[in-house]
Amino acid sequence: MPKYNSLRGMPDILPEDAALMRWVEETARNVFCLFGFGELRTPILEETEVFTRSIGTDTDIVEKEMYSFTDRGGKNVSMRPEGTASMIRAYIEHGMHNSSELVKLFYFGPMFRGERPQKGRLRQFHQIGAEAIGGKGPYVDAEMIFSLNMILGNLGLSGYTILINSLGCDKDRAAYRKTLLDWFAVRLDGLCEDCRRRSKVNVLRVLDCKRESCKAVAEKAPSMTESLCPGCSRDHAELKQALSSMNVPFTEKKDLVRGLDYYTGTIFEVVHTGLGSQDAIAAGGRYDGLSRQLGGPDTGAIGYAIGVERLLLILGREKSGKKDIGPLVIPADVSFAGEAFSVTNRLRSNGVSCETDLLGRSMKGLMRKANREGRRYVVIIGEEEKRTGRFFLKDMTGGVDQSLSFEELAVFLKKQIDRCV
Ligand SMILES: [Zn+2]
Ligand SMILES: [Zn+2]
Repeated sequence: MPKYNSLRGMPDILPEDAALMRWVEETARNVFCLFGFGELRTPILEETEVFTRSIGTDTDIVEKEMYSFTDRGGKNVSMRPEGTASMIRAYIEHGMHNSSELVKLFYFGPMFRGERPQKGRLRQFHQIGAEAIGGKGPYVDAEMIFSLNMILGNLGLSGYTILINSLGCDKDRAAYRKTLLDWFAVRLDGLCEDCRRRSKVNVLRVLDCKRESCKAVAEKAPSMTESLCPGCSRDHAELKQALSSMNVPFTEKKDLVRGLDYYTGTIFEVVHTGLGSQDAIAAGGRYDGLSRQLGGPDTGAIGYAIGVERLLLILGREKSGKKDIGPLVIPADVSFAGEAFSVTNRLRSNGVSCETDLLGRSMKGLMRKANREGRRYVVIIGEEEKRTGRFFLKDMTGGVDQSLSFEELAVFLKKQIDRCV
């Protein structure tokens, strides 16, 4: 019979990693709750145009990386390569723009990009993201960056920097494009083929090329900051002031551009020395033109996304926040297996995570198993326990052993192991 493996770059997430992922998700959810974000779950599959119109047709994602196909009805559909386009599509579809409030939404889920798989780059990966749609201003931007900083901090991450920049308004970008176009026009020889072509379509993209030769040319290019109008300059200064007052660790990076077409105004990226130089753990920015691009009203919006697998690479396994796992309920011999099974399930009904043996193994073997699994407690079920209804709770770390009624046992264990990990 043939053997099957998961597709390259689309790994299975085994229980230990799934628990870590859930811990990251829960930490983020708690922060989103503090800031008043609501969850929006969008489908994985969308009409391809939702992405091409928002991300831009001359980007790597759309040109080379999307999983697109024609469905049975003849419609061109794609698996989402990122979250924002779908969020805006849903925002418009459900009339959320009719509210005068800032609409704050978050999402969590898998994204799909046909990249060459390598460390920190997968074809199916997970993102946690947030969007604030329906308004603009430096305090909106500051609040978003602050929430991102709080999530990373609550996860125990340190040693990261938030890089920020401003791409200005439409007018500023038009002026900057012209400056760049003139600047690159006499330096085309130093650029790769993609960049030479892109310089004509969207010259900003050249600043984002990952080739060393292009980077060397782009490094010396004039910066966006010099093209900002007084209004955008003031907003950018106020944002920096707000971030400083909240002790957010940020650095201004004047050549930060971001790879997607839809960004305007504030953009940011979180980098960490633990990853290669080109990879960010999280990134985001303002995308005021996107709603209009997708047929909605002209409205301000800003968002970010955290790459969960990359974050976990840095955090490592030791940060799992792993709690004591529940006891193993051990029958003194096989004739007490039924009693042990019943006690185990009564404990579970009382909210205690625990396990027993279902395979008829010896008490000695089960004690070894409990040790190996790092269980602090075992409950032994024998003649005495069956007769008196009191249970022997053994502390494997050498603490005091106790004899408890079922109710006492359930209360005690629930306190020690307050929930599943
Ligand atoms: Zn401006
Ligand atoms: Zn290039």
